[in-house]
Amino acid sequence: MKAWQVQNKEGEMQQIVFADKRSEAIYKSEAIGWTEYINVRAKRAKYADDLENQPSKLIQAQLDNGWWYECHGNCRSHVTEDDKYKIVGSSIYCEECSTREVNDGK
Ligand SMILES: [Zn+2]
Repeated sequence: MKAWQVQNKEGEMQQIVFADKRSEAIYKSEAIGWTEYINVRAKRAKYADDLENQPSKLIQAQLDNGWWYECHGNCRSHVTEDDKYKIVGSSIYCEECSTREVNDGK
């Protein structure tokens, strides 16, 4: 399915939404819950097309395209493409947290 990068006008909130049409992507987005339709922007995110059922690939594609994620561990640090990180399922961990996780598993 087509992927859309949806954000509010100010760019404070962004997400990838999968939908056939732009209007559909906007209505499916989280932004529509707290702002008017007219304040929501959607642009095509071809790098994420057809990844709706592949969360780890989607995360990787987003990182490759300038997104950052909050570490899923306790540190809550921002993880970007330039950092060392580990993707587990639909979660991303910074290097420190992924190392700690491995150690805890011993
Ligand atoms: Zn972390």
